[in-house]
Amino acid sequence: MAAIPLYKTQELKIYNSISGQKETFNPITEGNIGMYVCGPTVYSNVHLGNCRTFISFDMVFRYLKHLGYKVRYVRNITDAGHLENDADEGEDKVAKKARLEQLEPMEIVQRYTLDFHHVMSKFNAIAPSIEPTATGHIVEQIEIIKTIIDNGYAYESNGSIYFDVKKFNETNHYGKLSGRNLEDMIANTRELSAQSDKKNPQDFALWKKAEPQHIMRWPSPWSDGFPGWHLECTVMSTKYLGERFDIHGGGMDLKFPHHECEIAQGEAACGQTPVNYWMHANMLTLNGKKMSKSTGNTISPAELFTGNNDFLAKSFDPSIVRFFMMQAHYRSILDFSNDALEASEKGFYKLMDAIQTIETLTPEAKTDGFDVQAWRTSCYEAMSDDFNSPILIAKLFDAVKFINTVKEQKVSISSTDLELLKETMHGFIFDVLGLVNSNETSSDTSDKLSGTVELLIKLRAEARINKDFATSDKIRDELLAMGIQLKDSREGTTFSLN
Ligand code: AMP
Ligand code: ZN
Repeated sequence: MAAIPLYKTQELKIYNSISGQKETFNPITEGNIGMYVCGPTVYSNVHLGNCRTFISFDMVFRYLKHLGYKVRYVRNITDAGHLENDADEGEDKVAKKARLEQLEPMEIVQRYTLDFHHVMSKFNAIAPSIEPTATGHIVEQIEIIKTIIDNGYAYESNGSIYFDVKKFNETNHYGKLSGRNLEDMIANTRELSAQSDKKNPQDFALWKKAEPQHIMRWPSPWSDGFPGWHLECTVMSTKYLGERFDIHGGGMDLKFPHHECEIAQGEAACGQTPVNYWMHANMLTLNGKKMSKSTGNTISPAELFTGNNDFLAKSFDPSIVRFFMMQAHYRSILDFSNDALEASEKGFYKLMDAIQTIETLTPEAKTDGFDVQAWRTSCYEAMSDDFNSPILIAKLFDAVKFINTVKEQKVSISSTDLELLKETMHGFIFDVLGLVNSNETSSDTSDKLSGTVELLIKLRAEARINKDFATSDKIRDELLAMGIQLKDSREGTTFSLN
C-alpha cells in the first residue's frame, strides 16, 4: 500500500498578500500545485538580493514537494519588454545593455541567463519545472491582447495598445492586491503630458509601437513593436498553469504595479481572478538599504564566494549564505553583514557536526530526556505555519543539543527514535532547507584546511625572503589550480576558496 502523503496530515497555512492573512492552503486539484514566480530580467548579473527572493521560493517549492504534492513550478526569464523605468517609458533594459556592449540582445540574454543558472545551482536551488521566456511567447501575448480588446478593456492609440484601467475599475477593483484605490491614485498623479498616447496616466501598455531605433521588435496587427512587461507573466503563467492557478510569488517590490496589472489582465482576459494565493518575499538590505541594481547598493554572489569585496572579512560558502537567509522568515527584511554571516557560519557548522555525530550514536533500550515524535511534529508545525524556517531552525538546534548530550552519554535514545531523529534531521536540513554538507564545510575539515594553507603561506613567505621565487610561485600557482587563491596585501597574505 502506498504511504499516505504528508500533506494529508498537515494543515498548511500561507500568508496571502491579497487578504493580508494567513489562510489554510487548499490546491485547486488535490495533490497538485501550480506555482508561478517572476524570474529575473537578464540584462546584468544577479545580485544577492535577487538571489534571496529566488532562494525563498526554492524553499517553498522544496517544502511543498516534501509534503508530497506534485508541483509544477514555472519561473520565467524576462528577456524583452522590461523598460528602464519599470513602466512604459525608456529603453528596453536588455537592448540598452546590448547597445552599450555592442552585442546582440540575445547575446546579453544568453550571458546573464547562464550566470543566473550558475549562481542558483551554487545555492543548491532546484531548477523550475518550466522556464519560459518572454520572447518565446510573443504570439500568445498578441492573442491575449486581442481578447482584452474584444472584452472592452484595452484601446489602440498610435499603434500601441493600453489597458483601460478606469473602464476595468468600473466592474473590478484595480488596486486590491496593493491596498490602493483608483480615486486616490488619480488624485495623486500629475496630468498626462500632451504627447502621451494614454487616456489616463494609470493605463499601462500591453503592446508598444517600437521607435525606429528600438531593435527588439515583432510584427503585430497594430504595429511593429514589443509586448508590455506585465503581460508576459500573465501569458506564461496561464499558458502553463491555467487561467486560475494556486500560487504566484515574487519579491515585495513587484506587488505594484507588476502584480496588480497581472490581476487586471487576467480578470479582463479570462473573466476570473488568476491566482488563489499571492506570496511576496521581503528584501535583502545592505547597510539598511534595499539591495538594488539601480543604486549600485549590491553585493554579487561571486564577490561573496571569493571574499573579493569591501563588506566581508573573508569568503563564505554558498550553503552558509543560504543558511543565513533561511534563519530569517521570508516575509521579514534581512540585513546583510559580516557579523551576521559569521554567526550563521558557526550555527551551520554546529548543525553539520550534529549530522555527523548522529551516525556515531549507539541506541539503547529507551529514549530519555527528549520526545522525538513531539519534536518532529513541531518541526512540521513550524514549516506549515507559512514556511517559518527560523522557528524550524530553532527546533533543529533543540535536537542538536539532545544529540550532543546523547554523545556525552548523559541521556539515551532508542533505536526507533534514533532512526526517526536521523530521518527528520536529514529531511529538513537537506531536502527542505536545501543545505549541502560538503567536506569543506565541516568545521573540523575547514580548520585543517585553513591550518594547511596558512603553513604553505608561511613557507612561501620564507621562500621569497630567500629569493627562491621558483618555489614561492609554485606554491601560489598550484594552490590556485586547486581553487585556493592567495591574496597579497600590505597586511600579509590571505586566501579564498574559488
Ligand atoms: P529583476 O531582475 O529586477 O526583475 O528582479 C528579480 C527578482 O528579485 C524580483 O522578484 C525582485 O522582487 C527581487 N529583488 C530585487 N531586489 C531585491 C532585494 N534587495 N531583496 C530581495 N529580492 C529582491
Ligand atoms: Zn512577473
